Amino acid sequence: MTPDTAHTRPEHELLREQVARFLAREVEPHAAAWEEAGCVPREVLRKLGAAGLLGLAHAPDHGGAGADALTNLVFAEALSQSTFAGFVITVLVHTDMASPHLQHAGTPAQLARWMPGITRGETITAVGITEPGAGSDVAGLRTTARRGRDAQGDHWVLNGRKLFITNGVHGDLYFIAARTGEARHDISMFIVEKGAPGFSVGRSLDKTGWRCSDTAELLFDDCRIPADQLLGEEGQGFRSVMANFQTERIALGAMAVGHCQQALRLTLEQVRSREAFGATLWDKQTIRQRLAMLDAKTRAARSYLYHCAWLVDQGLDSSAVSQDVSLLKALTGELAGEVLHTCQQFHGGMGYMRGTPIERLWRDARILSIGGGATEVMLDDAARRY
Ligand SMILES: Cc1cc2nc3c(=O)[nH]c(=O)nc-3n(C[C@H](O)[C@H](O)[C@H](O)COP(=O)(O)OP(=O)(O)OC[C@H]3O[C@@H](n4cnc5c(N)ncnc54)[C@H](O)[C@@H]3O)c2cc1C
Repeated sequence: MTPDTAHTRPEHELLREQVARFLAREVEPHAAAWEEAGCVPREVLRKLGAAGLLGLAHAPDHGGAGADALTNLVFAEALSQSTFAGFVITVLVHTDMASPHLQHAGTPAQLARWMPGITRGETITAVGITEPGAGSDVAGLRTTARRGRDAQGDHWVLNGRKLFITNGVHGDLYFIAARTGEARHDISMFIVEKGAPGFSVGRSLDKTGWRCSDTAELLFDDCRIPADQLLGEEGQGFRSVMANFQTERIALGAMAVGHCQQALRLTLEQVRSREAFGATLWDKQTIRQRLAMLDAKTRAARSYLYHCAWLVDQGLDSSAVSQDVSLLKALTGELAGEVLHTCQQFHGGMGYMRGTPIERLWRDARILSIGGGATEVMLDDAARRY
């Protein structure tokens, strides 16, 4: 086996093997049906939880493993060897994009109440930041939260709409960003349980790719939650959203790199066996060279990915790693598009057929340069830090 990156350790190989076995047994043979159904069965998430894979980076006292960012990255990259990115994002939103909000800002009581269910896969989480009028521009969000007090006690009342929320339909616990003051960055985070009065799931959204990942619109109409479901300090939500973006973007980078690796593997098999003009496609120099160049770019992006996780593990403040993470997100999102376009090209007409892994990966890759920070926004963020 080729030696791995400078940063990986022997135990990481065991984790990769564990995840590969899980994919081969529990995901790849079944997920075509999940794509039709538009969601990943809860049972599969519970099995991931039972295998100890839903709380790798969370604290051990609530069922997590207390692993470092590198180990967490190994998990995300291994999971992204699946040809069903909708399954991968369902899991990674729960582990790397939503629940870290609770892990980083939760009070001991909040952690004790919700984290065990999260790591077991019984409580599935979602994060609601994007709105119809505000995506890239997080500080433009308009959902409001007003503090109140009455005979039933101290509480918050939320009003507004969230859009494009992954795990929105089938989730149980939502971390919601809402405006708590007039200043542009006066935003706070809240914990909203499914079933809270005034909270409802609107449309389930129909997407180009990530078909087995559920994506929803969330509605807050005088949604009342107890005062102790403020997450973190009032007014610090913008800061915590920006800090959590580092974890989220490394996970999205891992998805991009994992899917590039898988697509190149599938394409190598295809061009070695497919014959045209009296020889295999692999015998055409142009095909060999283009695949080799895409492999070089994928390997380079992977090294940068591991470097970013290593930076996080040095205990630096999130602002100290954000330039690298923004560059990584831009690079990997664009690379996934380039690799999947060419890999699909080399599959010929079959690569355009619904249900083939390469067609699905191509559709699924499109969002990687938009979601979680569009390429232009990432490049601008990095450039402003030069
Ligand atoms: C399938 C899916 C799942 C998602 N899951 C979640 C989720 O779980 N939770 C959540 O909160 N959000 C989620 N999102 C939202 C996602 O993060 C946003 O779509 C993304 O941040 C872009 O915001 P927008 O769609 O409003 O695009 P806009 O902000 O309207 O931007 C549109 C385009 O304009 C360009 N652009 C924007 N700003 C600039 C700039 N400053 N300079 C140059 N060009 C610029 C970019 O090309 C960008 O793609 C999801 C989205 C999708 C599609």
